[in-house]
Amino acid sequence: MFTCLPQLLEPVLGGSLLGRARDGGVLDVRVHDLRDYTTDKHRSVDDAPFGGGPGMVLAPEPIFRAVESVDPVRPLYLLSPGGRRFDHAMAVELAEAKGFSLLCGRYEGVDERVHEHLVDDELSIGDYVLAGGEAAAFVVVEAVTRLVPGVMGNEASVEEESFGHGLLEYPQYTRPADFRGWTVPEVLRSGDHGRVERWRRAQSLARTLERRPDLVDARGGLTEEDRALLQEFGLG
Ligand code: SAM
Repeated sequence: MFTCLPQLLEPVLGGSLLGRARDGGVLDVRVHDLRDYTTDKHRSVDDAPFGGGPGMVLAPEPIFRAVESVDPVRPLYLLSPGGRRFDHAMAVELAEAKGFSLLCGRYEGVDERVHEHLVDDELSIGDYVLAGGEAAAFVVVEAVTRLVPGVMGNEASVEEESFGHGLLEYPQYTRPADFRGWTVPEVLRSGDHGRVERWRRAQSLARTLERRPDLVDARGGLTEEDRALLQEFGLG
């Protein structure tokens, strides 16, 4: 990862899931400070925009120098609100890749020559504007890392989660079975694993139909089996 604010990334990369994955050697994340590749005594990475206008722009020299010195694993993605939308499918793609690199912008953004001549593609985490690419880089790295075999410890949980099968996840409950009179569905306490599995799948379908019908459309709609399952649990 290339950033002018490594102090933002190091704490999140060292904690919890990512920290464990790094310590266990499953994950190799390196943070490169763009300021280490500046040549002036102020270690400036930005300059005023040609043509005028508010704010500052990340200059090309330190970025090109950093990337050319490190020669990072490609593809190199620039985090950018105008980039390709990062989603589950892309997280799977990156988890299966041999590696990738991220470049974090800041201020008003990055000199266009970086977009045109240095990076391989651009990634956006959504239609809103962050102050810098570091938070977006963290989102990408955490979402991808969870999908790397050996990181979660329980690979099935990743498969069953939202988007795993193109559907949202079914509702989850833990103890107590009765909390303030709100009880856990009887089927989950029945011990009938086949029924539990069918109930979960029906709930996933119903929830996705209600909240994200676009995901159901993307799978080609409901199958006969899906409809039967929804009917079995009074959700059809
Ligand atoms: N002036 C730019 C524009 O209008 O597109 C926004 C620059 S933003 C304040 C600074 C940096 O934050 C960007 O260069 C990018 O690296 C990062 N960033 C902001 N929003 C992002 C998003 N939705 N996804 C990925 N990166 C984002």
